[in-house]
Amino acid sequence: MLLWFRNDLRIQDNPALAYALENGAKSAIFFVSKKQWRIHHWSDIKIDFILRHAELLKSQLETLGIALNIVTADTFIDQVNYLTEHFAGQTLVVNEELELNERLRDSQLVDAGFNLVSFESDVIVPKGKVLNKSGEMFKVFTPFKRAWLSFVRQNGFEFIDSPKIHEDFSHLAPSEGSTAPKSSSKWPLANEFTQDVLPNFMRFKLAGYADSRDIPSVKGTSGISAYLAIGAISPRYLLVLLLNQHPDLLSEQPANCFSWLNELIWREFYRHLLFHFPDLIKGGDFNEKYKQLPWPNDKAKLDAWQQGKTGYPIVDAAMNQLNQTGWMHNRLRMIVASFLTKHLLVDWRLGEQYFAKRLIDYDFSANNGGWQWSAGTGCDAQPYFRIFNPLTQSQKFDPTGKFIRKYLPELAGVPDKYIHFPHEYLKREGQSNIYLPALVEHKTAREEALAFYKQYS
Ligand SMILES: Cc1cc2nc3c(=O)[nH]c(=O)nc-3n(C[C@H](O)[C@H](O)[C@H](O)COP(=O)(O)OP(=O)(O)OC[C@H]3O[C@@H](n4cnc5c(N)ncnc54)[C@H](O)[C@@H]3O)c2cc1C
Repeated sequence: MLLWFRNDLRIQDNPALAYALENGAKSAIFFVSKKQWRIHHWSDIKIDFILRHAELLKSQLETLGIALNIVTADTFIDQVNYLTEHFAGQTLVVNEELELNERLRDSQLVDAGFNLVSFESDVIVPKGKVLNKSGEMFKVFTPFKRAWLSFVRQNGFEFIDSPKIHEDFSHLAPSEGSTAPKSSSKWPLANEFTQDVLPNFMRFKLAGYADSRDIPSVKGTSGISAYLAIGAISPRYLLVLLLNQHPDLLSEQPANCFSWLNELIWREFYRHLLFHFPDLIKGGDFNEKYKQLPWPNDKAKLDAWQQGKTGYPIVDAAMNQLNQTGWMHNRLRMIVASFLTKHLLVDWRLGEQYFAKRLIDYDFSANNGGWQWSAGTGCDAQPYFRIFNPLTQSQKFDPTGKFIRKYLPELAGVPDKYIHFPHEYLKREGQSNIYLPALVEHKTAREEALAFYKQYS
């Protein structure tokens, strides 16, 4: 029996590991498949984060008597060949992966005679269990959420605590190091995150989450997405923590801490959606009526957006945050995605791919869901005629310009009143050279977007 780690780099709440331990497995494998990951557009920072967690896992497994072999196999084909060559006929114990190429690889292995014992480890409520009255997947979030909560109330959920290990892993704490976005060293390893950062968030920030989660200059969100994306922390563990703190959460839903669970249910929504609509991975518009949209895809506009040079401070600061740190605040993801699609009329798929190549927390289902929501082509999406005004978004969510000044230091001296659109002020001060003119004018861009989408609406 071989335990095969893929997108589940953890020992806690890992059903495949629990099964392998029960059945006396002694060896495990993890493939480093950089070529394949690049085909899937994964960023350098995400890859670095994975490799660090594979090393952590290796030392944790050692204490459980399992030897983790970390093997380079460039592509999925190389993985299949390696397994066939070295482990033919054996049972492979895995946690399922949801995405298409991953599933195709697994069926190739079954065809090649492997017995795959697989488990589900990426969601709280099993996929396929939250359905509407006709037995189909919901296409709107709120009824999905109600049914999801009712399922958990009635059935509970599984959780497998960590196998006992006693080693001190402090020697694996992140080293001080390069700030280059290729390195993930600023992100603590999952064991440290669950000991320090997460309890700190639960204790001090959860109560204020509903208010602070939309303010990019405040560290009001958990920062857990990167760990969920590579399976280093289990989503079921988060519900365990929430219920320890708020035993009535599922029935009473107190506003202040329910909003965090609400976001975790959004994550589940998009994963269940991909399970029911696996072809989403092929890049189509969820709402088929938009598949004919003739996106102009002006390359200069796409470049300006990617480089944070649109002349809209909130958009540019957000893109600088992404380019410099490998992460972007959710409110800003919504603003820049709306701006790229609706103001610049660039195909959402190009934005989706750029995010994949930059984000440490890149996850196909959440990213695709977020982009299609923003572009108006998705399931329960923002309608095409709701177009974020970058100026009012900036005034509302970064009122004093604190976030803008952090990522656009050239605007540090601009007074709060002008920070959201500083061009007139800079002109008056004779400083027009320090910031770019706006790439498009909001009112005109809005009208063009309305006309563009209307053709197919
Ligand atoms: C255009 C766009 C692209 C996105 N791409 C990704 C992506 O590649 N990977 C990713 O994990 N999230 C993505 N998101 C969702 C969201 O922005 C991030 O999950 C969030 O910013 C992560 O920060 P956090 O962990 O501090 O979040 P918290 O606010 O602490 O939320 C806790 C968790 O809930 C989930 N969650 C929160 N908001 C959403 C959401 N809108 N949709 C789905 N799940 C959510 C995430 O797992 C998150 O870690 C995207 C959103 C948009 C609008």
